[in-house]
Amino acid sequence: MFDLTGKIALVTGGNGGIGLGMAQGLGRCGASVIVVGRNAEKSAAALRALQAERVQAAAFEADVTDEAGVQRLFDAVERQHGRLDILVNNAGTTVRKPPEQLSLDEWRSVMDVNLTSAFLCCRAAHPLMLRAGAGKIVNIGSMLSIFGAPYASVYGASKGGIVQFTRSIATAWAKDRIQANAVLPGWIDTDLTQGARSQVPGLYERVLARTPAGRWGQPADLAGVAVFLCSAASDFVTGTAIPVDGGYSIA
Ligand code: NDP
Repeated sequence: MFDLTGKIALVTGGNGGIGLGMAQGLGRCGASVIVVGRNAEKSAAALRALQAERVQAAAFEADVTDEAGVQRLFDAVERQHGRLDILVNNAGTTVRKPPEQLSLDEWRSVMDVNLTSAFLCCRAAHPLMLRAGAGKIVNIGSMLSIFGAPYASVYGASKGGIVQFTRSIATAWAKDRIQANAVLPGWIDTDLTQGARSQVPGLYERVLARTPAGRWGQPADLAGVAVFLCSAASDFVTGTAIPVDGGYSIA
C-alpha cells in the first residue's frame, strides 16, 4: 500500500529541512526522487544523503518563482523520465515583520516563493501527470494557514492561500486521477525556524511548553505523512489539509 517503486517524485526545496525529510521518506519507499533548490552545495549534500540510503536521486538547480525556469525544470523531467507521479511543493521562506513595516517587495517575494511557485509547478506538472495516468500533489502549508500572528501577515496569507489553492486543484483535477492535499507542519527544527529563534528570545521554550508532544518536530516527522499522501494508501483522500504538529493546533 505504501510502495512507491517506479514512481517519479519531485520535491521543491528538497535539498534541506522539511523537504529533504519528505524526500527521504519517499525514497525509502522506492520512489526516484528529484530534489530542487537554488543552492548547489546544499543540493550536493542532499544528494549524498539520499544516495547513502540507496535512494535513486537527482538534484536540479532552479528558482521556483521563475516561470521560464520552472518550465525548463519540468521539460527536463519529461525528457529524462517521460512522466511525473508525485509533486511536493515545499519551497518556502518568510519575512518576520509587523504588516505596517512590510515593503511591497517583501510581500511579493514571500508570496512568490510560498504560493505562486506552487501554482507554477502544479501547472507545469499537470501534463506530465496526465501522461502518467494519475498524480499525487502535496502542498506545504503551515499552522499559520489557520492561525494569525502579528509578524506573519504575508506568510500567513501565502499559507492560507496554499490551502485554498489545494482545494481548487483537487476539485479541478480529480477527473484526471490527480489528488492534491496540503500538509500543515507545526514547529519543525530547520534553518527557517533557526532564523526565527535567533530573532525571538524564548521562542524555543514557548513552543515546547505549548506543544502537547513536548518537543519540537524534526524534518523526519514529515516523512510518514508525505508517504501516505503520495501512495495508494490515500487514493480516496483529496483536498484536505493535515496538521503535523505534535498537537500544537488542538491545545
Ligand atoms: P528551510 O529554509 O530549511 O528550507 C526551505 C527550502 O526552500 C530550501 O531547501 C530552499 O532551497 C528552498 N527554496 C527557497 N526559496 C526557493 C526558490 N525561490 N526556489 C527554489 N527553492 C527555494 O525551511 P523548512 O524546511 O523549515 O520549510 C519547508 C517548508 O515548510 C516551507 O514551505 C515552510 O514555510 C514550511 N513550514 C515550515 C515550518 C517549520 O517549523 N520549519 C512550519 C510550517 C511550515 P535553497 O536554499 O537551495 O534555495
